[in-house]
Amino acid sequence: MWHSSRSETEPTSVPATEPARVRPTVLVIAATDSSGGAGLVRDVRVLGDFSIDAVCAVTAVTAQSDSRVCAVHHVPPEVIRAQIVAAFETRRVKAIKIGMLGTRATVEAIVESLPPGASIPIVLDPVLVSSSGGVLLDADGCAAMREKLFPRATLVTPNVPEVAALLGENVATRERELIEQAQSLLALGPQAVLLKGGHMSGEQAVDLLISGNNNLQRMASARLRATSRGTGCTLASAITAGLASGLALFEACQQAKRHVVEMLSRQS
Ligand code: PLP
Repeated sequence: MWHSSRSETEPTSVPATEPARVRPTVLVIAATDSSGGAGLVRDVRVLGDFSIDAVCAVTAVTAQSDSRVCAVHHVPPEVIRAQIVAAFETRRVKAIKIGMLGTRATVEAIVESLPPGASIPIVLDPVLVSSSGGVLLDADGCAAMREKLFPRATLVTPNVPEVAALLGENVATRERELIEQAQSLLALGPQAVLLKGGHMSGEQAVDLLISGNNNLQRMASARLRATSRGTGCTLASAITAGLASGLALFEACQQAKRHVVEMLSRQS
């Protein structure tokens, strides 16, 4: 039991009758993107690539084309809570992937509904704006995410502009500055930060994984010209798939980076 007083939406344990499943299950907490380019549709597709099942909690419904965000409907917090509770009642969740949040109320609904402790790995993609420029998390929601969700996360996966925005600093142009920003983000409480270097220049796209006592690991791949919507969703979902399958964090990140490179290579 996760709450002191019982309510209709309180989680109960997974039914003893649940059949043994071969495929691990990930809980995806994310918004829908009507274009299918990003968000929940993309997440579930990527999990399928790794033979992982999904249960979901929809945080918002968005109408988007590749060039604009047309409308956003935020799902009421009590419905978000109920979805998370129902997900845990239905399946034994091996890992959680969190994408677009939208508002403080959504962040708080999620924090209240997550199981206590650090037993289930949580990958948090700190989605702030779409590549078309639409705001996907307001300023108050961003503050709530930093304060309340970062300390619960196993891994936070910002790109270069996101880490700057999250810290209220300038966008870094050198690796030394990037490492410092990743360290500052780590100090906000997640167990690890994967800083995606796709927005930097240079022959190679270098991602930095910082964990524990500022332990730094690099992952480099050839820089590809191709861009695609939903690249951030893809990487975070693929990492979550790896963790759900029992991979260690660095191996899960390496496998996920290979998956994104393959996806982009097919388009170039
Ligand atoms: N829309 C939704 C619902 C998302 O979850 C995300 C990213 O997670 C985006 C848009 C941003 O994707 P892109 O940068 O490809 O626009």
